[in-house]
Amino acid sequence: MNTERLGSDTLLLDLWATEPLGFVGGQYLILDSRMVLPSGKAVKRAYSLLTSDEEQHRFQLAVKRIPDGLRSAFVHGLTAGTDISFSGPWGKFVPREETSGRTLILATDTGITAVLGLVRATRFAPLLPQAVLIWLRASAEYFLPEELVKNQIPAACGEVRIAVIPEVGHQDRIPQARAILRELQLRGDLGQTFIAGDGAVNQVLFDDLVIAGVPVGKDQVESFFNMPKKSA
Ligand SMILES: Cc1cc2nc3c(=O)[nH]c(=O)nc-3n(C[C@H](O)[C@H](O)[C@H](O)COP(=O)(O)OP(=O)(O)OC[C@H]3O[C@@H](n4cnc5c(N)ncnc54)[C@H](O)[C@@H]3O)c2cc1C
Repeated sequence: MNTERLGSDTLLLDLWATEPLGFVGGQYLILDSRMVLPSGKAVKRAYSLLTSDEEQHRFQLAVKRIPDGLRSAFVHGLTAGTDISFSGPWGKFVPREETSGRTLILATDTGITAVLGLVRATRFAPLLPQAVLIWLRASAEYFLPEELVKNQIPAACGEVRIAVIPEVGHQDRIPQARAILRELQLRGDLGQTFIAGDGAVNQVLFDDLVIAGVPVGKDQVESFFNMPKKSA
């Protein structure tokens, strides 16, 4: 394993596996910190693979350090050469094989990792020319540098938009994300939509899409935090 620090709170992990991982772009791994809470529960956290599934032995994760977060602090303490345990690949946030048409992919915050994995998936290649990728986060310094993200997005991707929205929990955040979605819907039929990141935003956008009749299933929504209530 190799590590690279990007800015003050992001660590890029370069990992090698002895066997092919067998992942499809958009999936995630669960890292085991080998920490156990007083309750006896092991501390494990999900991290999405941001590299292309064309390469199955060597892959990358990017982890944002969360203030007072248990697991992200552990990851940030890792140094090159350390062996880490993980399970996976997990998750259904992957391109379906038989779809076509215009695809909207919207990431908020750290959700950009799952979205990079998704658009770099081998399966996603035919959808790229008609894809619109949007990344919304609270500042230009947030998590991954804009330049790095742009370099990871395949050149064939139809449109890429990276913008600033109010920070997590701010009252204007959801209205701004909804306005961006509405504007895109006005431009014509969406064949499918993928949304990843802030669960509070995801839930509202998902409801808006369902009401508008845009094809979107629960599998195409991946929440990293602010998890929507199971019953909702
Ligand atoms: C499928 C999936 C994929 C994920 N992929 C990534 C990834 O690629 N990179 C990554 O950095 N994280 C990713 N996460 C989030 C990650 O699993 C952890 O939740 C995160 O690292 C915080 O863990 P922690 O133990 O440090 O903090 P915790 O002690 O678990 O959480 C502290 C608090 O911070 C909140 N929180 C977590 N992330 C954020 C955030 N970005 N902004 C604001 N609040 C937040 C939590 O909801 C909680 O309230 C993913 C989560 C899921 C479910």
